[in-house]
Amino acid sequence: MALDGARGARDEESREKKKKKKRRKKEEEEEGEEEEEGAEAGGSPSAATMGDGDAGGRGLAGARPRGTERPSAVHGRLVLAFAVCIVALLAVTALAVLLSLRFDGCGPGAPGGAPGLPARGGNASFPGPARRDPQAGGEASTPGAPAARPPSDAERERERERERERGPEREPEREHPWTHLRLPGHLKPLHYNLMLTAFMDNFTFSGEVNVEIACTNRTRYVVLHASRVAVDKVQLAEDRAAGAVPVAGFFLYPQTQVLVVVLNRSLDAHRNYNLKVVYSALIENELLGFFRSSYVLHGERRFLGVTQFSPTHARKAFPCFDEPIYKATFKISIKHQATYLSLSNMPVETSVFEEDGWVTDHFSQTPLMSTYYLAWAICNFTYRETTTKSGVAVRLYARPDAIRRGSGDYALHITKRLIEFYEDYFKVPYSLPKLDLLAVPKHPYAAMENWGLSIFVEQRILLDPSVSSISYLLDVTMVIVHEICHQWFGDLVTPVWWEDVWLKEGFAHYFEFVGTDYLYPGWNMEKQRFLTDVLHEVMLLDGLASSHPVSQEVLQATDIDRVFDWIAYKKGAALIRMLANFMGHSVFQRGLQDYLTIHKYGNAARNDLWNTLSEALKRNGKFVNIQEVMDQWTLQMGYPVITILGNLTAENRIIITQQHFIYDISAKTKALQLQNNSYLWQIPLTIVVGNRSHVSSEAIIWVSNKSEHHRITLDKGSWLLGNINQTGYFRVNYDLRNWRLLIDQLIRNHQVLSVSNRAGLIDDAFSLARAGYLPQHIPLEIIRYLSEEKDFLPWHAASRALYPLDKLLDRMEKYNVFNEYILKQVATTYIKLGWPKNNFNGSLVQASYQHEELRREVIMLACSFGNKHCHQQASTLISDWISSNRNRIPLNVRDIVYCTGVSLLDEDVWEFIWMKFHSTTAVSEKKILLEALTCSDDRNLLNRLLNLSLNSEVVLDQDAIDVIIHVARNPHGRDLAWKFFRDKWKILNTRYGEALFMNSKLISGVTEFLNTEGELKELKNFMKTYDGVAAASFLRAVETVEANVRWKALYQDELFQWLGKALRH
Ligand SMILES: [Zn+2]
Repeated sequence: MALDGARGARDEESREKKKKKKRRKKEEEEEGEEEEEGAEAGGSPSAATMGDGDAGGRGLAGARPRGTERPSAVHGRLVLAFAVCIVALLAVTALAVLLSLRFDGCGPGAPGGAPGLPARGGNASFPGPARRDPQAGGEASTPGAPAARPPSDAERERERERERERGPEREPEREHPWTHLRLPGHLKPLHYNLMLTAFMDNFTFSGEVNVEIACTNRTRYVVLHASRVAVDKVQLAEDRAAGAVPVAGFFLYPQTQVLVVVLNRSLDAHRNYNLKVVYSALIENELLGFFRSSYVLHGERRFLGVTQFSPTHARKAFPCFDEPIYKATFKISIKHQATYLSLSNMPVETSVFEEDGWVTDHFSQTPLMSTYYLAWAICNFTYRETTTKSGVAVRLYARPDAIRRGSGDYALHITKRLIEFYEDYFKVPYSLPKLDLLAVPKHPYAAMENWGLSIFVEQRILLDPSVSSISYLLDVTMVIVHEICHQWFGDLVTPVWWEDVWLKEGFAHYFEFVGTDYLYPGWNMEKQRFLTDVLHEVMLLDGLASSHPVSQEVLQATDIDRVFDWIAYKKGAALIRMLANFMGHSVFQRGLQDYLTIHKYGNAARNDLWNTLSEALKRNGKFVNIQEVMDQWTLQMGYPVITILGNLTAENRIIITQQHFIYDISAKTKALQLQNNSYLWQIPLTIVVGNRSHVSSEAIIWVSNKSEHHRITLDKGSWLLGNINQTGYFRVNYDLRNWRLLIDQLIRNHQVLSVSNRAGLIDDAFSLARAGYLPQHIPLEIIRYLSEEKDFLPWHAASRALYPLDKLLDRMEKYNVFNEYILKQVATTYIKLGWPKNNFNGSLVQASYQHEELRREVIMLACSFGNKHCHQQASTLISDWISSNRNRIPLNVRDIVYCTGVSLLDEDVWEFIWMKFHSTTAVSEKKILLEALTCSDDRNLLNRLLNLSLNSEVVLDQDAIDVIIHVARNPHGRDLAWKFFRDKWKILNTRYGEALFMNSKLISGVTEFLNTEGELKELKNFMKTYDGVAAASFLRAVETVEANVRWKALYQDELFQWLGKALRH
């Protein structure tokens, strides 16, 4: 699954912005940790400040009103539906309690969270005693029977999880096995037959599911997941032929989202049963489960139904054992009107047409798989197709106009190549006969890796070469590389439980870079871009006191959503990269091949991976206990900063110390957990020694103690550099003498240090200064060498580090001093590189990516910090577009030009962009036009845009969040967005609350740049009003704002003083 905006760094609009957002987002998501101390952590300078830079964007915004009543009506309905839900929930709870005492009176209509559902019959009706009136049974299940065979690591893991979840204090509840987070584990699904009938005219569906179940422990209850479905009938039979097992009753238990079937007698261990459930539900107008979406074709609105089951929403589409460990085979049939087509994980085996214009598609049976990456869709899309060398049919489905334009061709082409790449890299063939990619208008994530039917939001897969920038192409590419990787990591081998979701997400994220290098060998993604887009970004987050370990405990249902955060994705990827580097890439690759081969069609926990990798190392004559090393990195939050103190003594000794890096050192004392723990890591520290003419070869020192002495020969003028090419997940600090030598080296001849080392130094220096480990001027001195820098990455690192600083200072009186200093560093390169002249075509990319990205970065810096020439150029380009009605603005800088134009020019330009936003059909263009509207300086326009953002007819649900966040990034709109957010919180929370990361993204995006005492107070007051909702995100927000406020109090003067002096010289 790719979180939206994951690619942040290179997003259309000033990517900087995004990145920062993402970080925020991540943070919020992570917030997981919820210890109070962590939450307070606040204050200090460091951490927080991650602002974002909107370079391009001082955004304004606005969108013209259109039918404002509509959304409120929709909202009204939502509220009503919600109210009905609550009532139903209360009723059902009461019922459940009753039933748990006496199984009677469970009427047919009772259960269900599908209010107002027309009782449309499933096509299956079967006789039998649906619910009878048993004599209440108390004797519940018989937990704890020993497993039949010795448990594998994965199983032990699962058992441990279950134990933890049961907890000693829960002992008495065991007799109510439906009240726990995890399913009881007495039953195991083997195979599902699922028959659905979808009514696209009223957005309902009915279903009949037949599940073959193996009973591993005697039990009187069948407990499986179901949510928001109305269950009509439940029937249980032994081994199909052996006849019915009388069902005493059944009920839905909404608190844990389960369906409980109570039996008159216990099921026997080691026997198989068949459970049949007939049910119906809504095809919801939201983003999870089986939901609907729409688009307009030739003026006519068309609908489609698609699914998003990860992590826990399959249960909204059919009753099932909705945990990743319960792998089973699935045979799905979908009946729908013949005007639609249906898709699922497997190809259609047969289609049966009926006279009434309906058709039933029967899909082939899947291999063993978990429920969360099962999928189906009903739509009237068209497709294009290709086939891999090994015979896998790859199709891209999208709305017919996009297919006709060829907008899916790029994705189709690279998907074919990527399947070939992964088959070769993993030495495991792709497992299914086909892979469909489906581009949908609305989706809660950037994409979801459903096996054989991966679903993407249009903006992450459709690409129109005539209007797409390199950044957009990169975004699309990496999302696709990510999802294809999941066909192996995630789908073929699946994490045991959600705490190790980082295993699949970290790998998929890491492989985004490896796979893109395969497609574009000159881009050096894994060696370079990884640093800025992953490592630097996540270290910002993970340096907060309220971070959490990458492997997160999942103790309650809401934790499951929370584990999909940037720590899981990016820290996961960074740790995997560190591991690959210290193992050596080829050994690492062989280890992965073994891991996939051993665990295919099954589940694996992290220790299974560590063991396989240790084995691979052993075969190469190296003995490292990978589990021991990696546990420190995955089970402890945060990361270390290594400090290397030079040879002050005569014996050429250096002192290396490690400590937990925290942006806000005072947060450490507040956070009890941090106070009491002194974290230590085993750190693979690579090191070189150099001087003006020579650099030593790389050595590795494993640092495992708090403080260690090492012998290294250092001449007087020699510097040390640690963490070569930033392959390690830690920061390195030096004594000031060494910093000065490094700065001197950069200025005299920066090429002695590699591109990655230069970018790494920049990021470390800014972060160390932010945290108070270094004087504020050190990073600013480092970037002085940039006028000679011709590589993209160091510029990118600098630009990313500067934007948060910019956001902290942008409303200050002395802001101009900062602004001027940055402009001065940018000027030479800006003039040297100039503006792109032509649009490139598809072939561009290979050769010119680095150069074009560098030019774009510098133009973005120049325009956003107010370079006059840059402003003129942007204005001229926009005016030319308006007067000629021909858009000749180079693709790669369109977002910058639009945003700059909107912020500099008058309302007419805003209106023009607004009009173009409505008329354009290319999704990439639509997105940057919308974001440009947030760049205005005009507060009326910004307010107008904010109000329009909630109108789903105008702005897609997933884009509304971006509008609000971008307005918050605009110094002229920050307070407007903040106020809007508070005023509309109830609406926003209703809309996005369930997709937790969207809510988190919004909360952090709106608050991350608040930095005054007043704003902090407003935030805290607001939280009192809305106590409890999204608590973790808000606590994180408070920590961040406190840190912003404190950084300003502590360091702002020091910074301005130095800048003033620097400019005078
Ligand atoms: Zn993913």
